[in-house]
Amino acid sequence: MAQHHSHDDVPLDALGRPLASHTHTHDGSTHTHVYAPVPDGPASRLHLRGVLLPGGEPTDLWVVDGRVTFEPVAGALTVATGCWIAPGLVDAHCHIGMGAQGAVDAETAQAQALADRDAGTLLIRDAGSPADTRWVDEREDLPRLIRAGRHIARPRRYIRNYAEEVEPDDLVDEVRTQARRGDGWVKIVGDWIDREAGDLRPLWPVEVVREAIEAAHAEGARVTAHCFDERSVTELVDAGVDGIEHGTGLDDATIETMAERGVALTPTLINIETFPDIAAAGESKFPDYAAHMRALHARRFETIGKAVDAGVPIYAGTDAGGVLPHGIVAAEVELLARVGGPEFALGAASWRAREWLGADGITEGASADLVVFGADPRTDISTVRHPVLVILRGRVVKRA
Ligand SMILES: [Zn+2]
Repeated sequence: MAQHHSHDDVPLDALGRPLASHTHTHDGSTHTHVYAPVPDGPASRLHLRGVLLPGGEPTDLWVVDGRVTFEPVAGALTVATGCWIAPGLVDAHCHIGMGAQGAVDAETAQAQALADRDAGTLLIRDAGSPADTRWVDEREDLPRLIRAGRHIARPRRYIRNYAEEVEPDDLVDEVRTQARRGDGWVKIVGDWIDREAGDLRPLWPVEVVREAIEAAHAEGARVTAHCFDERSVTELVDAGVDGIEHGTGLDDATIETMAERGVALTPTLINIETFPDIAAAGESKFPDYAAHMRALHARRFETIGKAVDAGVPIYAGTDAGGVLPHGIVAAEVELLARVGGPEFALGAASWRAREWLGADGITEGASADLVVFGADPRTDISTVRHPVLVILRGRVVKRA
């Protein structure tokens, strides 16, 4: 007779703390339970010894009251040694509260945020969401979220149910509205298929978009734009945009301008991998569009590689939340490593992205938002797929 157990009984470790995960066998099958941390319980004092990234020196660090310290802390539990410790990962283009059909309920949004967290993503720049996710800010167990309000597009010129849809005459006002709703970013859709033209076309007259960007800046917000096409990215960078999403249509001159002005690029290479499927779906009705998408896809590594070489600030974004699932930051890091190498790719998803968004690195007194690896990810980037520990606000939220 198999011994039964209740899945509600969280097993404890030798010190009486709930285990983050537990693998066992019963009824002939082996499986792992992963338990959520107790949000109200006292945070343990932790000790780790490992190589701090990007610095590279083996170092002792302690975590007390949710913060990093390099001063020894009495009674700390050693949770990792001989490891590599990176500042918490950043997904710079992600959508919490959004699914393929538009806004999702809070339970689904929570599952999205937890999937990201458990993959090591502890800071998200949300690149537009139709759901109100303000409640996430109250949750210590969920990643930090920097919002861009809701996407702004034109009627019939973007995915249904995602965007606030306005005509160009109303763009400036809508940008102001979204600037006040977000956390310092506004997201506009720069181009999309124009069904009459049968190909990608910019959504906005260039003078309108220039005025809209100025309005956002006056509100203290930065503007980022979805751009697949060649023309929209050139016009938007010229109009003073602060960030480009995807950027498959970048040419050499625009890359140079972005590098000079420090305009951020979040290519979402993992999303660009879906272009051949988008092309196939549109082939019969829109053959020019399909050919265009295939051409953008075919030169994607060359285009983004040129931006890397030119010194454009590049960040890791998964575009999770529409079609792509959450928790896939490691896959984007691996694709970025193909164009810039492992250390570049990890920096794009960690310390460089955190600095850009105003988040802590691993410094005295910083919030202990850490991802711990069992091997050096700079040697083998696939290590990023399997963090041995994820620590958020000083709590172990996930262990291998
Ligand atoms: Zn997106």
